[in-house]
Amino acid sequence: MTGASRGLGRAVAINLAKDLGLHVLINYASNQAAAEETLKAIVDAGGSAELMPFDVADHDTTKQNLEEWFSKNADYQLEVLVNNAGITKDNLMVFMEEEQFDQVVNISLKGMYNVTRHVLQHMVRKRYGRIINMASLSGLKGVPGQVNYSAAKGGMIAATKALSQEVAKRKITVNAVAPGFITSDMTKDLDENQLKSYVPMNRFGEPEEVADLVSFLASKKAAYITGEVININGGLYS
Ligand code: NAP
Repeated sequence: MTGASRGLGRAVAINLAKDLGLHVLINYASNQAAAEETLKAIVDAGGSAELMPFDVADHDTTKQNLEEWFSKNADYQLEVLVNNAGITKDNLMVFMEEEQFDQVVNISLKGMYNVTRHVLQHMVRKRYGRIINMASLSGLKGVPGQVNYSAAKGGMIAATKALSQEVAKRKITVNAVAPGFITSDMTKDLDENQLKSYVPMNRFGEPEEVADLVSFLASKKAAYITGEVININGGLYS
């Protein structure tokens, strides 16, 4: 579970432990205090988890962390992968620096490749898996001021559809979730009062609402759903 220290990732991590009884690998970039809070919430609820910090944008570090974990836990089956780590660096295209474009694409899109590439071999061998990619309304509709983020999330959606067809015969499903405005650190500087008026439900969503959708997609009940992009946006866009 990438980006599990805060926000949507934390809610998903807690749900995966609670709803599906999974041992959760809590990946994050640097916020150890927040990651420990996620860990504590899981353990307090009777679940189990461990911290696994690494930068998903760094291919070699990601590979090394995952290979080390697999070599120490040969008996475990890694059933579910949620590619959730993502950042925004908003700017209008005319002002957008190369660094702003690269950072967003490297974490939000290439991070999905870096992690999935090294988890997939394991799922293919076990002939079972659930991969859920955290996309965004931006990747479907395109949002002005977010050319970098829209490109990353649009790429993630296309990659979800392509990969789902590659691995369907191995009983591995690959789906994307596309949230609209959800309360988290990522959206805390937005003008919620103004923006919620664009949402038919007239409110931002909660991380737990996204987590409930991910729990279903990650469950055995969702066996025949693959290659889908599921909106969760209070009616903002469909
Ligand atoms: P958030 O509160 O800012 O949390 C981001 C998470 O990603 C944190 O756990 C962070 O770890 C982790 N992360 C960032 N860079 C990373 C890296 N290089 N390697 C590993 N982990 C990294 O964001 P959020 O709102 O929960 O968003 C989670 C996902 O949902 C993102 O993919 C976002 O694009 C997507 N999304 C969010 C919304 C929304 O309205 N909030 C809407 C649509 C889609 P640290 O704590 O260590 O920094």
